Amino acid sequence: MGSREVLFTGLVVVFLTSTTLFILQLGDDEADNSQVDFYAAGNSPILMGDGHDHRNASDHQHGTDNIEYLSFNPLTTPGNAEVQVARSPDGNVYSYQAGWNDMHIVDVTDPYNTTVMGVYNDPNTQVLDVKYIEHDGREFIIQQNQLIDPGNADPNVGEWSDPAQVSVTLIDVTDKSNPCYVDSWYDADHPSGPHNLFTHKIDNEWYIFVANPDYEQCDSALGEACGGVTIAHLDLDTAITTLGCSSTIPLTPPGLAIFKVGEAEVAWENTRGGWIYIHDMTVQTWPGTDQNDPRYGRTFIYGSYWEAGLRIFDVSDVPHPQNSPEQYAFHVSACKAGVGNPLMCRWRAPEVGSWMEFLDMDGDGQPDSQTTGNVNGGRVSYIHYAEPFPEMVDVSHLGKGDELRHYTTAAVEVLSTTEGTGILYLLDTTNYTLDDGHFQFSISLASDWEIPYAEEVCYGADCSLNPDGEEWLLFSPHNLDSAYFETNEETDASHGGGWDGRLYVSHYHAGLWVLDLETLIVTGTEGWTERHIESTVGWYLPHGVDGEPLASVSYEFGWVPFLWAVEHHEGRTYASCISTGLYIVQLDIDKPFIGQPV
Ligand SMILES: [Zn+2]
Repeated sequence: MGSREVLFTGLVVVFLTSTTLFILQLGDDEADNSQVDFYAAGNSPILMGDGHDHRNASDHQHGTDNIEYLSFNPLTTPGNAEVQVARSPDGNVYSYQAGWNDMHIVDVTDPYNTTVMGVYNDPNTQVLDVKYIEHDGREFIIQQNQLIDPGNADPNVGEWSDPAQVSVTLIDVTDKSNPCYVDSWYDADHPSGPHNLFTHKIDNEWYIFVANPDYEQCDSALGEACGGVTIAHLDLDTAITTLGCSSTIPLTPPGLAIFKVGEAEVAWENTRGGWIYIHDMTVQTWPGTDQNDPRYGRTFIYGSYWEAGLRIFDVSDVPHPQNSPEQYAFHVSACKAGVGNPLMCRWRAPEVGSWMEFLDMDGDGQPDSQTTGNVNGGRVSYIHYAEPFPEMVDVSHLGKGDELRHYTTAAVEVLSTTEGTGILYLLDTTNYTLDDGHFQFSISLASDWEIPYAEEVCYGADCSLNPDGEEWLLFSPHNLDSAYFETNEETDASHGGGWDGRLYVSHYHAGLWVLDLETLIVTGTEGWTERHIESTVGWYLPHGVDGEPLASVSYEFGWVPFLWAVEHHEGRTYASCISTGLYIVQLDIDKPFIGQPV
């Protein structure tokens, strides 16, 4: 344990006083230097220790001066998860926020004065993920239910004969005050319900990608997809023209809008063992314009597979109603007949890239993990969220060559640690190899980041200084959002070059962290703390009201903040706090981009 935390633990009052001074004295243009001064003075952005109450909002007035609080909306109930923000065809901006047993629609057009427009109640299980789709002027949310938390769910949960409790659900949100059920899909391969989902268009047709975290009692040798990604076609034209919109969830779903066509699954023979399952995934059509690159125009899933690391799957040749109607009809009917059972539902997206070269913190020559030693709560190995950067970027002004490069972020989720708060990796996913006409991503580590001085912090049951099982997941990256900004001399905030890139990281009780992509690229893997400070743009702990422990088995903490997700949208940052609600904040260097698609 370093002197910083010992000092801090004993001097909470003094620390908070000095933090207040720090925040008040910062000027916009002094932010970078002041961050260095802040750490040099022995301060920490990590709040813990004697006398500190993680549920007390006023104990968490903490952040850098370049992030301004705009508003807080407590919504109608606590218990929140993923948030999506989108500009509607009606011209307003709305957020759609997963809310444990409901989904809130909030008008955020005026970020200082937000209004709950509608609530979709889904009392069956837990709504953790939502994705927004606009199609032909109509608006939809696709969300999941997972049986994760009987403490906050319908008492009938566990009645397996009621698949509506563990399904993917399509909701029409065109009328913001009256969100309504359209259709749902239950997958036999998701017996406890899906955990995450993602939407993406392939050749003008919408597809959904659904994470199935179940993998026990699953035999990959039999052709079962163990902990795989369900891939389904979304027929929104039929949803619009044929299906109604219901205020109640029917016992038998219409089954006319969501059609499973296959799965993607980690190549088990190419792993190191340990704890392996799909968590989050994102999907991107390759952003490069080089037609000689075999990935040109193709679409990939970037899956987070815990100790199997990042896994990339090629879904370009997915059964498609226009491109391959016979194959599509065959797989849809086979998947439907087996309710998604992967033994009958056989199409698989091939794995075309993987990375699991985690950091080697114990210096034994192997990446740290459960099977190679020094797992430390998964600080470097529990890959939980990965996202390709939206654009190929020019790095010539950064001294990294003339070729446009493609980067992918991959961050861990840490349960409890003996030291550290969890690593965020920046991976270079530009290169590929060709073998007999088949390409494979050739992935290398470009940089990594952790909260500065995190190695002086521990938490949860594994923390020898203060073992506290209740503090599991206290400090850890969770989700992130990456944004690409086209800049000019006036708006560029980092290194010039005509673009900036920022990562907006939800870091549970450590709040919102904003990182600078160009600084990560420039500093690479040299050094440690100095570059972690240098690549940090700012951080902020939203703290609207005191937290109450939730009626929940998995997330009873009531910590303020406890950020599930942050989203950047048109220059503003939206943070979904599990225990309190929706926050909107403003990073100073994002102001030129307010109202612009980024
Ligand atoms: Zn706290």
